[in-house]
Amino acid sequence: MTQALDICIRGAGIVGQTLALLLARERLRVGLVRPTPAPGAAADVRAYAINAASKELISSVRGWPDAPHATPVRQMRISNEGEAQLQFDAEQLGVPALAWIVDVPALEARLAQAVGFQALIEPLAAAQGAALTVVCEGKASRSRAEFGVQFLANAYGQSAIATRLHCERAHAQVAYQWFSKGEILAFLPLDGEQGNSVAVVWSVSTQRAADLLALQPEAFASELQAASQNALGQLALSSERVSWPLMSAQTSQWVGPMAPPSAGAWALAGDAAHAVHPLAGQGLNLGLADVAELSRVLHQREYWRSVGDMKLLRRYERSRKTALASMGGAMDGLQQLLTRQDAPLQTLRDWGMKGFDSSGPLKRWVAQRAMGINQE
Ligand SMILES: Cc1cc2nc3c(=O)[nH]c(=O)nc-3n(C[C@H](O)[C@H](O)[C@H](O)COP(=O)(O)OP(=O)(O)OC[C@H]3O[C@@H](n4cnc5c(N)ncnc54)[C@H](O)[C@@H]3O)c2cc1C
Repeated sequence: MTQALDICIRGAGIVGQTLALLLARERLRVGLVRPTPAPGAAADVRAYAINAASKELISSVRGWPDAPHATPVRQMRISNEGEAQLQFDAEQLGVPALAWIVDVPALEARLAQAVGFQALIEPLAAAQGAALTVVCEGKASRSRAEFGVQFLANAYGQSAIATRLHCERAHAQVAYQWFSKGEILAFLPLDGEQGNSVAVVWSVSTQRAADLLALQPEAFASELQAASQNALGQLALSSERVSWPLMSAQTSQWVGPMAPPSAGAWALAGDAAHAVHPLAGQGLNLGLADVAELSRVLHQREYWRSVGDMKLLRRYERSRKTALASMGGAMDGLQQLLTRQDAPLQTLRDWGMKGFDSSGPLKRWVAQRAMGINQE
C-alpha cells in the first residue's frame, strides 16, 4: 500500500481486529500493528461470554466462529453460600440465548482470517503516522503511557484462575456461578449444545490463587468439584491453569491530540481504556461497544471533518464515559456485595437474591442490559 494511512490501530487483539474491519468497511485505509508473537506462546485457555450486541457486531464483519466454538447459553444459575439461587432463562426472556460462550483462539483466528481478506487493512510491525491513532493494546498499554495518560486502577486483591474441564455430565447449555467465602467460581459451557466441557474462571484471593496453582491437577479438580457442589459430576482438567490479577481501572482521558512534531489525534478503546471484574463477563463486550461507537461517530462525521478531528473524537469520549460510569460502578458494587463476608451483607445478599429472582420487570431489565440490548 503506497497511500498514507487514515487510521493506525495499535494492538490486534479482538477489539483492534474488529475495529480494523469496521473501519475498512467505511473505505478508510487502516494500518494494524501486530507484533510478531513470541515463539512457543501458549494458546489462550479462556472462553468469553459474548452478549447479543457483540455477537451481531462480530458477525457483521464475518468474524464469528463456527458453531462448536460458540455455545449458546440457555440458562444461567447463580448461587451463593446461603440457600439463595438466582436463575435467568433465555426462553422466559424471549431471546435465543442469554450469551454465547466463545473459544478465544477460535474467535481470534476467524477475525485474523477476515482481516487477511480485507485489502484496505495493512498489517504493520510498528506504528506509523496517521490522521487518527487508536490504541487497543490492552490493560498494560505502552502507547497510553507514552501519551502521558493516567490509568486509574483499583486492585481487588484477587486473581482469576482460568482453565478448562472435562465433566462427567453434559452442561446442557447452562452457565453456573457460585459465590462462597468471598470467592466467585464460574463454569461456562463449551463445545456446542451437546458438550460436556466447561471453561472455568475462579476469582480468589491472591494467596489462595498461588496455593491452588501449586496443587496437582487432580487435587485442583477435586477442589473445583467441591466448590461447584458436584453440579457436573466428576471433573478432569483438560488445559493448563493460567491466572490474572484482577482490578477495575479507567483511563483519565479517552482522546487527545498527538504531541508535536507528530500530527493527528489518538483515541483509546477496549482494555487500554478500562478494566472491569470478570464477574459479569463484560470486559470484552464493553471494548466491542467502544469500537462500535467509534466507528459510528466516524461514519456520521460531517464531510469536512477529518477522522482525527478533536470535536468528533470528543463525541466518542462523552458517549463511552457515560456508558462506562454505569457499568463500572455496577461491577464494583456487585463485587463488594457478593464477595464480602460480613454477616449483615450476607443476609442482605440472600434477601436481595430471593427478592430479585421473583422481581419480573427488574430482572428482565438487568438481563437485557447484560445482553447488550435496550441500553437506553
Ligand atoms: C479470566 C478472564 C475472563 C474474562 N472473561 C470475559 C468474558 O467472559 N466476557 C468478556 O466480555 N470479557 C471477559 N474478560 C475480559 C477480556 O479478556 C478483555 O476485556 C479483552 O481481552 C480486551 O480485549 P482488548 O483487545 O482490548 O485487549 P487484549 O485482549 O489485551 O489485546 C491487546 C492486544 O494488543 C497487543 N499489544 C500489546 N501491547 C502492544 C504494543 N505496544 N504494540 C502493539 N500491540 C500490542 C497484545 O499483544 C494483544 O494482542 C475476561 C478477562 C479475564 C482476565
